[in-house]
Amino acid sequence: MKIIKTVAELQLFSDSAKASGHTVGLVPTMGYLHKGHLSLVEMAKKQCGKVITTLFVNPTQFAPGEDFESYPRDLERDSKMAVEAGTDIFFAPETREIYPVGYSTSIRMTGITEKFEGQYRTAHFNGVATVVAKLFNAARPDKAYFGQKDYQQTLVIKKLNSDMNFGIDIVVAPIIREADGLAMSSRNIYLDKKQRKVAGILFAALEEAKAKIARGERNRIVINSHMHAKLREVPGIRLDYAECANAQTLEKPETFLPGEEIVLLIACYIGKTRLIDNALVSIPAYDDKFEEGI
Ligand code: AMP
Repeated sequence: MKIIKTVAELQLFSDSAKASGHTVGLVPTMGYLHKGHLSLVEMAKKQCGKVITTLFVNPTQFAPGEDFESYPRDLERDSKMAVEAGTDIFFAPETREIYPVGYSTSIRMTGITEKFEGQYRTAHFNGVATVVAKLFNAARPDKAYFGQKDYQQTLVIKKLNSDMNFGIDIVVAPIIREADGLAMSSRNIYLDKKQRKVAGILFAALEEAKAKIARGERNRIVINSHMHAKLREVPGIRLDYAECANAQTLEKPETFLPGEEIVLLIACYIGKTRLIDNALVSIPAYDDKFEEGI
């Protein structure tokens, strides 16, 4: 495995890999890798001839006061883990390589970027869309891998891909969790022992909400209230949102319709650590609960 630091070298690698008949897979990350990231690399390795994993803590997706400076960084550890999982090229550029002096172009996406995360982290998705567009142009992949863990981000990336005609196959991989259900995240290291012990509550709230829907509940407000009540079992938890939405549009339906795919979305603080999680639920197309008017 090779560590590449410049866009020009990465483009050269990708172009020659493709000229030799390989498909190229891209796994963008901000590093401090865990099994969630590695699952993306392993999936890419199965589906592509060459895998590029990128490590770039992107300043433009952090707001002032967020954890850009303190975000965990360990290039040596990450490059080892990435190669063991099947990475061929590890792209770890300096900030100035991605945003050279005088850089003045960015992507601004409206619509889905303004909901949920967008209400709490206003410039976040424009920063994500901009850096991912740059990584797409630097790596020129056939396929790019993203985790369902950042559900709204996957919608943003798919929209970026189609709006900007990248023509990349966007693959969304399932959420990898700890034994108690906590979604793996580089930020979990911020949790102290006591906080870590209760952090499984997000998964528990999602599971209970899913079970309610499976038993026939179709009212969005009722499901929201259940999630809120469950999360509040943790004293001092601070909710940004715990909500249901249409999985494609992120609109909030009053009642879930037959055949509709719903996403349950949670963002909350335990102590100073902001955690997000989500789950997808498909409402049956022939929904006897709906016909019963429950
Ligand atoms: P990050 O380094 O947090 O920006 O994440 C890089 C990629 O890994 C994103 O596509 C994330 O959605 C994905 N990812 C992060 N955590 C997980 C997880 N627990 N399971 C699956 N994918 C994940």
